[in-house]
Order: sequence, then C-alpha cells, then structure tokens
Amino acid sequence: MDAGRRQSVLTYKLYDDPPLKRVCAHCDEEGATEKIPFIGAGSRLAPDCLWFHDECQLRNVLGGLKHQQKLCHCYIHDGDNAPPEGMTKHQEAEEIMRLVRLGQWSYG
Ligand SMILES: [Zn+2]
Ligand SMILES: [Zn+2]
Repeated sequence: MDAGRRQSVLTYKLYDDPPLKRVCAHCDEEGATEKIPFIGAGSRLAPDCLWFHDECQLRNVLGGLKHQQKLCHCYIHDGDNAPPEGMTKHQEAEEIMRLVRLGQWSYG
C-alpha cells in the first residue's frame, strides 16, 4: 500500500465513523460529538483524535462536581474526583453543563 492510500484508509477510520457510534473518551458512552485531535502514542505520521460529548469535554476543562465542592484531592488529602455516589460519569458531566447554563458554576 502506498503512502497516499494508507493515509486515506487512516482518514476513513478516524473521521467517518457513524456519529452515533462515537464513543466518548471520558464516559465510554456512545454519541460523542466533539472531536479533539492529539498526537497518538502509536503514530508519528498523523494525529489521532478522541471523541467527547460536549458536556464531558466541559467537565474535563472545569473539573468534576467534587472539585467544585472542594471535596477532591486538590483540597482533601484522600479526596477523589470521581462522580458523586450513584451518578455515572456522563450524568455528572450533564449536571455540570446544567449548572454552567444556570450560572451556578463557581469559577473561583
Ligand atoms: Zn461522555
Ligand atoms: Zn480538584
């Protein structure tokens, strides 16, 4: 396979998956819509990309609910940044998006 053809196969694999099959790199659920390029560990030729739900990417930028509540390891020696009890990672991200939209997220 020549380099050009190899590139097109890679491009197909990375960019043309059916949208609903895109698995979010944060919560592992399907339906991710936001494509974040990065230089993959296995490739020196082309950037790979990760898919995220918009809300999960927002969560990665802002931190989790426990960070907001100062209950994570940034504030407490044995704290953690996992979703609160009974909440999936995706549900936590949706809650963060909801709080941001309501203007109830503290950026301090
Ligand atoms: Zn997600
Ligand atoms: Zn934190």
